[in-house]
Amino acid sequence: MQAASPRLPFAVKPTAHPVPEADRLKAFEALGFGTLFSDHMAVIRWSADKGWHSAEITARAPFPIDPAASVLHYAQEIFEGMKAYRTADGRAVLFRPQENARRFNESARRMAMPELPEEDFLAAVEGLVKIDARWIPQGEGSSLYLRPFMFASETFLGVRPSKEYIFCVIASPVGPYFKGGAKPVKIWVSETYTRAAAGGTGAAKCGGNYAASLVAQAEAAAHGCDQVVFLDAAEHRWVEELGGMNVFFVLEDGSIVTPPLSGTILPGITRKSLISLAADEGLTVREEPYSFDRWQADAASGRLKEAFACGTAAVVAGIGAVKFSGGEFRIGDGETGPVTTRLREALVGIQRGQTNDRNGWLH
Ligand code: PMP
Repeated sequence: MQAASPRLPFAVKPTAHPVPEADRLKAFEALGFGTLFSDHMAVIRWSADKGWHSAEITARAPFPIDPAASVLHYAQEIFEGMKAYRTADGRAVLFRPQENARRFNESARRMAMPELPEEDFLAAVEGLVKIDARWIPQGEGSSLYLRPFMFASETFLGVRPSKEYIFCVIASPVGPYFKGGAKPVKIWVSETYTRAAAGGTGAAKCGGNYAASLVAQAEAAAHGCDQVVFLDAAEHRWVEELGGMNVFFVLEDGSIVTPPLSGTILPGITRKSLISLAADEGLTVREEPYSFDRWQADAASGRLKEAFACGTAAVVAGIGAVKFSGGEFRIGDGETGPVTTRLREALVGIQRGQTNDRNGWLH
């Protein structure tokens, strides 16, 4: 569905009750993930008769929604995750936001929701970052996490695409994603649960994918692991991705392998950026299937030197150990390896405005 609307005018209504500066600074002393929120939100509404309308930047507040709102029953909902960074020279920057706008619309198409013109998506995100610029933390590993999302708001219990939607962007100042900082993570291979099958919603960023992953993530935590990694649904053989991150393998010959975008994994923007940065560094990246059997064999033989996970929230995290129902194995010496560190630094350097942004990724 292509909503044909020109660039929308945003009504900007600053909150009458901003969080006092002293309270904000106090909250910044112990940043977690997704618990603290800025003063405002951006909202755009869609209805079948009017298309996109009523764009505004306003005080962050709850939505009154009817108990029969269709999102509450059939989960017609999609979202994005992106970050605003404060550079050393004081600029507020976004990293490749057009990629999020594009992926948001790919998710919308899969979920039979209206597409939001990319310029309106970007205007909503930019407008919110501008009005809440004081909410961008500056510390190492800190940023303002932005959460654009859209949900079916029509009061209707029939099973069909909603005729009304609310698009919204909220902002949350965050610290480093994993508590251990740069320490490598330990991951759990789920052999019971899968995330997505061919023809399903694996490549869309819809809430339902995450609802279905929670029990596997809980299993990972019960086994002392930080994250779950999923295998493919058809054969339970091929490594797909983590609950919220893509995965890469660094081999002995210096080449790097990452699972291909087969339609069942999320096309990560960090993944795409690292593939391009690795090529810039003269490394070969192959997008090809990598099996769990091969993972175990390569780790045992020493052919696998490093593995890492990547995504907007955690950026790049080394994988030190892997646990599954049949045992546990270590990757390399169990520490974050040199290729992982090099790629992480190359990416973080660009995001923080410290290295030359050759590709024009900062906005
Ligand atoms: N896979 C899944 C399932 C995710 O939720 C995410 C986070 N959006 C990623 C991969 C990484 O994507 P990105 O690099 O765009 O954050």
